[in-house]
Amino acid sequence: KEYDEGLKKSRNSFGARFNRFLANFRSVDEEFFDDLEELLIESDVGYETAMRLSDELREEVKLENVKKRSDVSDVIVRKLVDMYDEEGKEEDNTLKFSKDKTPTVFLFVGVNGAGKTTTIGKLAHRYQQEGKKVLLAAGDTFRAGAIEQLQVWGKRVNVPVQASKAQTDPASVVFDAVHRAVNEDFDILLVDTAGRLQNKEGLMRELEKIKRVITRELPDAPQEVLLVLDGSTGQNALSQAKQFNETTDVSGIVLTKIDGSSQGGIVLAIRNELHIPVKLVGLGEQMDDLRDFDPEKFIYGLFK
Ligand code: GDP
Repeated sequence: KEYDEGLKKSRNSFGARFNRFLANFRSVDEEFFDDLEELLIESDVGYETAMRLSDELREEVKLENVKKRSDVSDVIVRKLVDMYDEEGKEEDNTLKFSKDKTPTVFLFVGVNGAGKTTTIGKLAHRYQQEGKKVLLAAGDTFRAGAIEQLQVWGKRVNVPVQASKAQTDPASVVFDAVHRAVNEDFDILLVDTAGRLQNKEGLMRELEKIKRVITRELPDAPQEVLLVLDGSTGQNALSQAKQFNETTDVSGIVLTKIDGSSQGGIVLAIRNELHIPVKLVGLGEQMDDLRDFDPEKFIYGLFK
């Protein structure tokens, strides 16, 4: 599956709205900007981003003396891409790896159901295919089901899983996993965690403890703390991102389920309001349904 196919549903909702908007186009006047703001807000780019875009477009439309419908559409799409790139100037959309022979560690955070386990399984498959030695750590010891699910993925993609019984201290599972990764020369360790946002203090303490355990053994790790968000939940995903970002330093976002009814605009909202780069996107439930995030392809894909 490529972006094109994965984005079909988002495009149907976002693209269809956008096309209706353009069909109603008469001239670039105040009503046009009002309608545009409404369209953008409904598309999950968030209020702030919608206003900023609308303001910048006013300028641009004036400067370039845009009048035709097709030109209006070009200017809007280009502006969205520019906006993403500009925000991301100092950031990097790609995943970071260990610079020496020591294992790379990625820590996955996010609420239950967002797609953490699935994403870990897909990434494990990717690195396994590249010939890397991959280890998974079942750090979500809160639910027995979470441990089993990770083990199912481990079997499916043929990658070992470091696990312990449910209710064990997650930091102790991670401790064992880090030692095993170092001693047995693993290239990559992917760590699952429990995402209980109801208890923010507790979650923060738990994540800090897990990080300490990793850093004590591997000073440059974790190379990534990846927040997994369900892209189909719209503004709810944005508010989760805000809360997690207050809890721990998130280095990147994995946006899942954009093959569903996601409005897609959430990518811009996250960028504009949180300044955290989206690094991966989930396009389905299968092991190959994960892509590196490419802002240009993504945004053009929404409008096509
Ligand atoms: P976790 O609780 O965060 O570990 O979430 P899971 O990995 O168990 O995922 C929850 C559900 O979402 C499962 O049914 C997954 O198959 C599904 N899922 C995860 N990622 C995607 C995706 O990119 N697209 C679709 N359509 N479903 C996904």
